[in-house]
Amino acid sequence: MAVLVASDLDRTLIYSAGALALTMPDARAPRLLCVEVHESRPLSYMTETAAQLLAELGDAAVFVPTTTRTRKQYERINLPGPAPRYAICANGGHLLVDGVSDVDWHGRVLARLADECAPLDEVRAYLAEHADPVWLRKQRVAEDLFAYLVVERELLPEEWVKSLAVWAENRGWTVSLQGRKIYAVPKPLTKSAAMREVARRTGAELTVAAGDSLLDADLLLAADCGWRPGHGELADAGWTGPAITALPERGVLAGERILREFLKAVRTAG
Ligand SMILES: [Mg+2]
Repeated sequence: MAVLVASDLDRTLIYSAGALALTMPDARAPRLLCVEVHESRPLSYMTETAAQLLAELGDAAVFVPTTTRTRKQYERINLPGPAPRYAICANGGHLLVDGVSDVDWHGRVLARLADECAPLDEVRAYLAEHADPVWLRKQRVAEDLFAYLVVERELLPEEWVKSLAVWAENRGWTVSLQGRKIYAVPKPLTKSAAMREVARRTGAELTVAAGDSLLDADLLLAADCGWRPGHGELADAGWTGPAITALPERGVLAGERILREFLKAVRTAG
């Protein structure tokens, strides 16, 4: 049976040094593989075991990296295993087919955004006006589709994010807080819509997914079954769903566990 595995990357399969959450004595720590270099420095890791599992998965299923990253940020990741035919970037805004953005898909996404939510400029203006330089480090626009702020978490008032979320909700936008980043993303810009498109194109009969943040919730619900790690925005909110398994593992070991679950699901499906 053709199985589609759509997985978030950051803090689901790959982890920065600050997100590893290793708790064992150093001498017993798993060996790590660096899968992303940024500005000549190592940035993201998976365990060596997870790397092996991912390579096996790539041979056994249609593995689709499904990320909020821009194409450029995605392209510097060097995942083990066969190069995925499909990849979902910019939270569904770009569907890469053999590394090239599908023009037809991107056009359909832009048409939906124009119809269904407030324009990016309105959100940018709000952020520029209301973000406080005391905690704001950077303001960025990703792929002309959505915006994010890089913030100093210890200085960021929780209330500020809540009021942004309420403001955004009324304009058809979603807010997600992940590590040092606050994302403002149009509601119609979803990973799940892109996953459905890949399922249609590949004729997949079963879809499985994993993710850790609010921007993964629609993906998890759209899949036939899904997993979320013991850390992250969804875990913090105690979020779950009918076919969702909340795993106890946190950090880079959760990535390993998720890959084991993917492989089990693929092998069970036969
Ligand atoms: Mg994530």
